[in-house]
Amino acid sequence: MSQEQNPKPTNFIRQIIDKDLAANKNDGRVVTRFPPEPNGYLHIGHAKSIVLNFGIAQDYQGHCNLRFDDTNPHKENVEFVESIQKDVKWLGYEWGDKVYFASDYFEQLYAFGVELIKKGKAFVCDLNADQIREYRGTLKEPGKPSPFRDRSVEENLELFKRIRDGEFADGEKVLRAKIDMASPNINLRDPTLYRIRHGVIHHQTGEAWCIYPMYDFTHPISDALEGITHSICTLEFEDHRPLYDWILDNISAPCHPQQIEFSRLNLQYTVMSKRKLTELVSEGHVEGWDDPRMPTIAGLRRRGFTPAAVREFCDRIGVTKSDNLVEMGVLEDCIRTDLNETSPRRMAVLHPLKVVITSYPEDQTEELEVANHPQDEGMGTRKIPFGREIYIDRADFEEVPPKKYKRLIPGGEVRLRNSYVIRCDEIIKDNHGEIIELHCSHDPDTMGKNPEGRKVKGVIHWVAAAQAVEAEVRLYDRLFSHPNPDGAKEGKDYKEYLNPDSLRTLTHCYIESNLATAKPGEQFQFEREGYFCLDEAHISGNRPVFNRTVTLRDTWAKVEQQVKK
Ligand code: ATP
Ligand code: MG
Repeated sequence: MSQEQNPKPTNFIRQIIDKDLAANKNDGRVVTRFPPEPNGYLHIGHAKSIVLNFGIAQDYQGHCNLRFDDTNPHKENVEFVESIQKDVKWLGYEWGDKVYFASDYFEQLYAFGVELIKKGKAFVCDLNADQIREYRGTLKEPGKPSPFRDRSVEENLELFKRIRDGEFADGEKVLRAKIDMASPNINLRDPTLYRIRHGVIHHQTGEAWCIYPMYDFTHPISDALEGITHSICTLEFEDHRPLYDWILDNISAPCHPQQIEFSRLNLQYTVMSKRKLTELVSEGHVEGWDDPRMPTIAGLRRRGFTPAAVREFCDRIGVTKSDNLVEMGVLEDCIRTDLNETSPRRMAVLHPLKVVITSYPEDQTEELEVANHPQDEGMGTRKIPFGREIYIDRADFEEVPPKKYKRLIPGGEVRLRNSYVIRCDEIIKDNHGEIIELHCSHDPDTMGKNPEGRKVKGVIHWVAAAQAVEAEVRLYDRLFSHPNPDGAKEGKDYKEYLNPDSLRTLTHCYIESNLATAKPGEQFQFEREGYFCLDEAHISGNRPVFNRTVTLRDTWAKVEQQVKK
C-alpha cells in the first residue's frame, strides 16, 4: 500500500538530526528511547511518541531503547510492563535484546547523588512536603533557602547513607539539589532528587530500596548512561530542560544527550491522561483497559484497528510544537482507508427480518460463487448458499416508504446482492401489528443479469436462513459525546460527557456461515454496514462476537457540522 512508497514525512526534529549528522555530532550516531512509566496501558498519544522515536531510529539506522521509567513503584506493576511491550511490538517495532529499566541504574543513580553531595551541589533537607512547597516561592516571588541548605558535605554524606539504610521514615528527609532559590524557573529552586518510600515492593528491585529517585534526576542520567543522542519528550518538559542540563553538567556523565520537545497528541471525543483512563477502568465506565472504546492501543487493537492504520495516523498528524486537538475523523479515516483495501466482504444481517420466497422450491438450495472484494480479484471468491428462506435487514423494508426510498416496499422489487431480484407480495404481522415476515417471489431470470423490460435500483444484503450463524454484534461509538470532554466547561467533570450510546449490543444477528471460521481479530467488511472483527476475547461458546471497528462513512461529519453552526 501507499505507506512504503511515500517518502517519510519530515519534521523539525528530523531536521535537527540531519544537521547534527552533517556536523558529525555524536560521531554520526542516532540513539533515541521511548520511556513509558508502567502505570497504565499505552494509548494513541504514546503511539505518536513511539512512531516518532522508533521511526527515527529505523530511518537513520540508529537504535531506539525501550526503557521503563519505573521510579514510582506504588503505581506500577508487571501487568503494565508486559502490556507495554506487547503494544510496542504490535505497532511493528523492535528494541533488540535488551529491555531497559531506570531501576537498573538505582546503584549508579545513588552514586551520582553522592557525587553531587561531595561537590557541594546537593544536600539532605528535613523540611516536610508542605514546608518545601512554602519555601519554594511562586512565579512572582523568589523562594527562601531551606535552613538545612548549608549542612556540611560530611553531614550530608552520612545522612544520605543513613536514609538509604532505612533509618528515617517516609517524608522525614529528602535529598535536594542546591541550585538557585531565586531562579525565575521554579524547577531550579533546589528540586528534590530523592524521597523515602518504605514498604513498597518494586516490581523489579523488590525491597532492595527504601529511597526512590525523582524523574528529573533519573531521566537525564538514564539517557546519558544509555548513550542516547536525542532525548525526545513532550512540551510540558520544556521548563525542565534547564534542570536536565544542570544535572548532566554537574556529574561525571558519560555524555550529554540533547532534550527536544514536541507537542503531545490530543484527540477529540476522548481523554488521554493515564489518571483519567485508570479512573474509567477502575470505576467500571468501560470493561477494562482493552475495552474497544478506549483510546488505548489494546482497545484499538480489539476494536479492529491495524498497526498500519495507527502508524499512518501518526504520519498524517505530524510532529510540531503547537498545541492541537486532532479530529477523531482523521483516525477513523485511516482505518477505513486501510480496511477498505484489505478486508474481505461478507454479508451479515444485524436486525433480521425473515423473508420467505414462496416461488422458490422448498427443498432447493443453490451455491452461489461470489467475489470477496469488488476491486481486488486476488482476494478470490467464496461459496454462499441461497434458499427459500432468507433474512434481510429490517431497515431495508418500508411499508410506507419515504420519498426516494430505493429498497424493498410492498409490491416493489429489489435485488438481493449477488443473487435474484425479488418482489414483496405480502406482509405478515403479529397481533400487535409488528411485521414479522415478508412473503416475496423471485424472478429466476435475474441471477447475474438485469430483469427484462424494467429497472431495479436497490440492492440489499441478506443471508440464507437455514445456514446462517447467529452472532452477537457490538456497535461501538465514541466514548464521549463532547469533542473536548476535558475542557468543555469550567467545573464540569469529564465523566459527565460519557456517551450513553457508546456501546449498543445486538444479540440476534445472522451472519453468513463462512464467518464461523473467522479467527480472533480477523477483519471483514459487512456489506453496507461497516468494518467488523471477531472479538479477541469471545471466540468460545456457540455465538461469536463481532466488534464494529468503524462505519463505512463518517456519520459524525454531519453532527459536527451542526455543532459548529
Ligand atoms: P501521564 O502524564 O498521563 O501519566 P505520561 O506522558 O507521563 O502520561 P509516560 O508513560 O511517562 O506517560 O509517557 C511515555 C512517553 O510517551 C513520554 O515520552 C511522553 O512524552 C509520551 N507521551 C505520553 N502522552 C503523549 C501524548 N498524548 N502525545 C505524545 N506523546 C505522549
Ligand atoms: Mg511520564
